Amino acid sequence: MSEPVIPAPAPLADRLAAVRAGVADAAAAAGRSSDEITTIVVTKFHPASLIEELAALGVRDFGESRHQEAQAKSAELAHLGLTWHFVGQVQGKKARQVRAYADVIHSLDRESLAAALASEESTVDCFVQVNLTEDPARGGVAPALLEPLVGRVLETPGIRLLGLMAVAPLGAEPRRSYARVRELGDQVRRLAPEARFLSMGMSSDYVDAIVEGATHLRIGTAITGKRPEHG
Ligand SMILES: *Cc1c(COP(=O)(O)O)cnc(C)c1O
Repeated sequence: MSEPVIPAPAPLADRLAAVRAGVADAAAAAGRSSDEITTIVVTKFHPASLIEELAALGVRDFGESRHQEAQAKSAELAHLGLTWHFVGQVQGKKARQVRAYADVIHSLDRESLAAALASEESTVDCFVQVNLTEDPARGGVAPALLEPLVGRVLETPGIRLLGLMAVAPLGAEPRRSYARVRELGDQVRRLAPEARFLSMGMSSDYVDAIVEGATHLRIGTAITGKRPEHG
């Protein structure tokens, strides 16, 4: 009896090249320049060694979603001068610690968190996360509460508002979800003209996100491969 043939997983460099090509194609098809699109590789649950391999392949932007893990990896790899994006939910009592290593926080979603991130000494780049589901546990501010939150963020010292972040809800058409984020982004820009960036698009739907104007893609498995098992 012969063993079933399992295709070897594509090496990291091949997967990275495939995503880069996919981003370039989608940008060209949308009449956009890929220079205006930052691909953040989300490396949660993967070891620091994978980040080193990606850095050697030219990746500069990394996303993490769990505070302790992100803190440890960014400390271990500080010599590489990478840009760290925190994309997970931030607990108020951990906010100052996250701020200490994160260059960009994608998940600012409430006034109390803005207050916890305030600083007179330094500035951190933030996206306000919008929740496109009915489930408050998902993180993100409800669209109806977006304007007051943005108003508060703009008054907070030490936060530079970049724009909006969202995760496309499961079971919904991603293109429609991202069109909604783009519209909400237009609304935010009436209050904050500089806040023109949109963090949206993951492994399975980044093409739709690019069509709708994404400037920051958060891509995990399409580049890293399957995440290691976790409990
Ligand atoms: C894990 C994660 C991603 C990447 O997801 P993939 O489907 O692996 O590309 C993007 N955004 C957030 C907030 C995540 O937690």
